[in-house]
Amino acid sequence: MGNRLTPTQVITVNPNDFYFTGTLNGVPVQNIGGSGFQGLTSLAQVQAAVILHELGHATGALPSDANSDTASMGNTATVVKDCF
Ligand SMILES: [Zn+2]
Repeated sequence: MGNRLTPTQVITVNPNDFYFTGTLNGVPVQNIGGSGFQGLTSLAQVQAAVILHELGHATGALPSDANSDTASMGNTATVVKDCF
């Protein structure tokens, strides 16, 4: 049985980041090499991957990547590989 969220844990999505558009500088995130989103085909999938990534941290299924964009992209790739 996996870890469970506790009532004090909060997941926040940055409203100014790519979550709502699926793009960075006009480029779909799944088209950005190394982003971890490769293989996804829709904004809904990108959004689901973002939420699953954050739930992975909250439950302890994914290691921390707070100080590393490379580690964050690797965690996203893990989510995409294992969940889509
Ligand atoms: Zn992360």
